[in-house]
Amino acid sequence: MATLRAYKCQDCGLTATVSGGEDALFSGPTNTFYCKSCETLQDIVLPLVRPSLDAPIENNCSSCNSTHLVEWSSLKPCPRCNGSLALDPTDNFVIDAD
Ligand SMILES: [Zn+2]
Ligand SMILES: [Zn+2]
Repeated sequence: MATLRAYKCQDCGLTATVSGGEDALFSGPTNTFYCKSCETLQDIVLPLVRPSLDAPIENNCSSCNSTHLVEWSSLKPCPRCNGSLALDPTDNFVIDAD
């Protein structure tokens, strides 16, 4: 069960509905990443098994398939402008996804 919340950056207007950190869906553990290529925040299901111990875990953007992803959590500043990305007070609904 994951809880998704609406976030909005007060400085650059970036919006996203994500869990804002490590979470878990029925399909596996998730984490929130920012894609530098298409400038979106998204929750990505992490691979459960690494191909090998030395292999870096590569996650792909679900929109553009880029691997230029940076981990983001709600404790961090906006990954696009370093501004204040916080819960959107005008759209603060909570979605329970499973
Ligand atoms: Zn921003
Ligand atoms: Zn992307």
